[in-house]
Parts: sequence; C-alpha cells; structure tokens
Amino acid sequence: MKNFFSSRREIARRLSGGKPVVFLDYDGTLARIRRSPEKAVPSRKAREAVGRLARNGVQVVLVTGRTTGFLEKKFPETKVVAEHGAGWPMSRITRAAGKLLEGISEKFPGSFVEWKKSCACLHYRNVEPAASKKLEKLADSVLEPLEEKRLVKVQRGKRVFEVMDFGAGDKGGAVRDVVKKAGAGAVPVVFGDDSTDEAAFTEARRWGGVAVLVGNHSGRSAAEFFVKGVGETIKALEFLNKSIRR
Ligand SMILES: [Mg+2]
Repeated sequence: MKNFFSSRREIARRLSGGKPVVFLDYDGTLARIRRSPEKAVPSRKAREAVGRLARNGVQVVLVTGRTTGFLEKKFPETKVVAEHGAGWPMSRITRAAGKLLEGISEKFPGSFVEWKKSCACLHYRNVEPAASKKLEKLADSVLEPLEEKRLVKVQRGKRVFEVMDFGAGDKGGAVRDVVKKAGAGAVPVVFGDDSTDEAAFTEARRWGGVAVLVGNHSGRSAAEFFVKGVGETIKALEFLNKSIRR
C-alpha cells in the first residue's frame, strides 16, 4: 500500500479533469475513536477541512455506521449516509439475532447491544482483552449458522458485531449510488479505517477513484493508499482542496 502523501502527484493526476466526490467514514477516520461514541465529537480542524471542500464545490458524503441525526448537525454542508447505507428497518429474524447478542452481552460486563433501525450492534470496546476473545467465539458460534443460511448479514468491525438483514446495503452501494447520480466524470475518493469500509474502497477503485485506508495498514485491504490517522486524514483533505481548486 502506498503512502498518500508520497503519491500526491499520482492522486492529483487521477482527479484532474474529473469531478471528485469525497466519501468519509466518521469514527476512526474523521474523529478519534473514544470509549463512548458520544465523546467522539469532530475537531474544529475536521469541520473546517470538510467545510472548505464543500465551499470549493466538492460534494462531500459522510458514510457512517452511526444512526441518522448526529452528523447532520455537525456537518451541515455534507450529505450523510447513516447505518452504512443499509437502508431499511430490520426483519424479525435480524431482531431475533439481536436478542441472542443481548443474551451474550449480559455475560460480559462492559459490552452492550445498540439497536439501530437496520441493525443490532454488539459493542465490546470496554471488555477486557481475554474476555473479548471469549465473547467473539460465542458471538461467532451463534451468528455463523445464521449467516450460512443467508438469514442475516454480519459485519465484524473494530470491537463490534453488526447484524443486519441478509442483502442489506453496504458502503459500496452508497458510493455507487452517489457516483451514478453525480454523473459523467465523477471520481470517488474514499477514506475509511475499518473492515466495513472495504466495500467502499472496492467501489472507488472500480470507478477509477482513490481509496485511502486510515490507520493500521498491515492487514489486507482493497485500499491503494494509506494515511496514518485522523490528523493525516484532515491534512489529506486540505491537499485535495488545494489540488482541485476551481
Ligand atoms: Mg470507522
């Protein structure tokens, strides 16, 4: 994987003449991950960088696992795709799977289940490491049979299991929809830090765009470039803003 900043020329070339559309994940990409999500408020720098891009005529889309409402207020100039673009209320079978996750979370202090419109999320960021391994084993043993029967879809993010309907939309679909709507010459630029962003990376590359992994880049990823963390995401946005100044 290539360092974003060492590849500035290549990236600028890829965007030149096109209509860049910037897709940003939120937690771990635009704001540091905190023990409790409500503490992960965007920095002034992050809000300014996004605002400048938008004022420069670049469409900015936040694609997040969060529920709708929180980010719209912080970033009024962007389009927000909530819940990874999953798109519809969960089915009864997904709800039942979420109930099973609640049973698991009762056994592991510090974990909890968050109910969103489209998915049930078992968070275990605050469970100690040894117990986390046990929790993962237990959750996999419950969820894998349901996945195999194509009854639910499971996304395994950073210290979270997200269960949604089989066939629910993902971040890749969200990128595709926006790029198609943006019309000829649209070039997606995607930033994300987690496995749930991989579908968006793949989609960005399919459109000749730029896929940027934020943070640890030692594992497998469809991203072509990396930045080292949230601070560098913001620097990268500033570079993009300069290179696509209209
Ligand atoms: Mg993230």
